[in-house]
Amino acid sequence: MPSPIGHSLIGLTVANLPLKKQLYQSIFWLGYVVIIANAADLDFLPGWIIGDMNRYHHGISHSIGAAVILAIFCAIAAKLIDLDAKRVFFVTALVYFSHLLGDYLGVDRSEPYGAPFLWPISSEYYLSPVQIFHPIEHGDPGAGNSSVFAEIFSYPNLIAAAIEYIIVVPFWLVTFWLSRRGSSD
Ligand SMILES: [Zn+2]
Repeated sequence: MPSPIGHSLIGLTVANLPLKKQLYQSIFWLGYVVIIANAADLDFLPGWIIGDMNRYHHGISHSIGAAVILAIFCAIAAKLIDLDAKRVFFVTALVYFSHLLGDYLGVDRSEPYGAPFLWPISSEYYLSPVQIFHPIEHGDPGAGNSSVFAEIFSYPNLIAAAIEYIIVVPFWLVTFWLSRRGSSD
């Protein structure tokens, strides 16, 4: 799994295309994309509450089903406050999918490897045979919160995040350039 930095960059990369220039006209959209790009990893929270952060990680929040449910929920909320519901649905689903793609392409060191990306169609766990993102250490299964946090803020994770930056930023630049070109037509 990539770090929150990697997930945010991947989310911002895919969001460049449909949002075009408008993304950069609003800090709200930037914040929204970053939150949605990392939302699947909120499955750390219930484990954090019970002192076993990894307990529920890589469950059904990492699935196309969760992406669609969240996108519908956000589109309804957008409609209620007079935002473009269709656009919110599309961006939310796309950015959420980008999180799944990032995790699919990242090294996973603990069983079950990968995540049930196709839930509810299938509950099987999938992981790419070729992984391009380095692992982000977040403790062994059953590790307490303090040792998980010590691993999260460790030097190897800093290096892994730097590598994510180097891998993703060229793609971000390309989509940014495409979005600028598209918006000037
Ligand atoms: Zn994840």
